[in-house]
Amino acid sequence: MKVACVGAGPAGLYFAILMKLSNAKNDITVFERNPAGTTHGWGVVFWDDLLNNLSRNDPQSAREIIEHSFRWPGQVVDMKGKQRVHQDSSGYAICRRELLAILTNRAIELGVEIQFKHEIAQVEQLPHADLIVAADGVGSQLRRLHADQFKTHISVGRNKYAWLGTTQVFSEFTFGFVPTKAGWIWFHAYAFKKDMSTFIVECAPETWTGLGFNKLNAVDSLRLLEDLFKQHLDGHQLITHASESKSLPWLNFRNLDNETWCTDNLVLIGDAAHTTHFTIGSGTRLAIEDAIALVNALGNQDEVKAAVKVYESERQRALMLPRRQARLSARWFESLTRYTDLDTPEFLMLMMNRRSPLIPYMPPRVYCQLHTALLRDSVFRKLYRGVAAVVGSLRRQQPSLR
Ligand SMILES: Cc1cc2nc3c(=O)[nH]c(=O)nc-3n(C[C@H](O)[C@H](O)[C@H](O)COP(=O)(O)OP(=O)(O)OC[C@H]3O[C@@H](n4cnc5c(N)ncnc54)[C@H](O)[C@@H]3O)c2cc1C
Repeated sequence: MKVACVGAGPAGLYFAILMKLSNAKNDITVFERNPAGTTHGWGVVFWDDLLNNLSRNDPQSAREIIEHSFRWPGQVVDMKGKQRVHQDSSGYAICRRELLAILTNRAIELGVEIQFKHEIAQVEQLPHADLIVAADGVGSQLRRLHADQFKTHISVGRNKYAWLGTTQVFSEFTFGFVPTKAGWIWFHAYAFKKDMSTFIVECAPETWTGLGFNKLNAVDSLRLLEDLFKQHLDGHQLITHASESKSLPWLNFRNLDNETWCTDNLVLIGDAAHTTHFTIGSGTRLAIEDAIALVNALGNQDEVKAAVKVYESERQRALMLPRRQARLSARWFESLTRYTDLDTPEFLMLMMNRRSPLIPYMPPRVYCQLHTALLRDSVFRKLYRGVAAVVGSLRRQQPSLR
């Protein structure tokens, strides 16, 4: 089979690797607009579920990924300087650049052709292919060219965020919330190697303008953020990929969905097809799972068009839960002031349960009491699950409640 794939992110590269592993004669070319070794972002987190999936599908790249990953043992919430530790959740993080380097080298070793510095603006630029895979991320040009067929929905998140790096090593996944004269500002930070961490800053738009980030250049923004988070950074600097004379790359998250993921022989995978808010740290896993599902579907069906339809319906089903959870998680952070008067243990409890469909509809303290009771009592637990299921299904039936 001849395949043209646009985008050498996790989705496109993993797809190319598995296509070659499934049949070495498959002819795969990946077109990437960036030069080799450059990408946006810093480290990304993942859990054992992704690792198991990678090991099953390509043990060689899985081994390298785990060798280059940093394990974080738990989560810490720092609220106005008071810390609480949540030990139940541990995971991994890897530098996005290293992840892409591992996948790129593996793809090339298997015979995939990767054309860097090759931006695709039109389908006509691509060679004739049995299948075209749009793995070109959230801003996918191939998807935009066929927006009416894919029926794309995009909603823009309220909060501002900036994806930064720092030399401070946050060995646990750390959330730090700081009050300012203009409102709350907070960070999500985790080490992804022994001397670097990801540092994502988030705040409401009023706080962002109130602190003057709309007028500051990158250097002054970084210095202000270092001052706001000086207790956490302990003298370490924040770092951006952006040019220092420009402003910081503050963004609003784009929630993206498509009713259809394929048209003719063109198929969307990864962020080009769907996004999930970064506060559930799952976009890379889901992009890789799309690649696995697409290659399996192509292997099980004689016709490309039938295979992409099987892939589409399987993955749309699989995405329902994480997408719902991601919306709830984003909404929790967008409603932060509902929770900031609580004591740190209650605040932590709500934050750790932010994917619950009940939280937006219950007074926060009542939710905490209910949650504490259900941890102790099995009757309460059944009642809670019943109510949560009803609320969840009502939300699914009434889009206005989502
Ligand atoms: C702040 C933040 C934090 C995140 N943290 C995590 C995390 O901790 N864990 C996690 O799992 N996920 C995380 N994600 C999500 C994750 O980064 C994405 O879901 C993932 O990168 C999607 O992979 P992809 O291959 O679909 O797209 P991308 O990684 O975006 O790759 C798309 C590629 O296509 C290329 N491209 C685009 N247009 C063209 C074109 N016209 N021609 C040629 N090439 C093109 C791009 O240069 C890029 O290399 C985070 C996202 C954000 C915003």
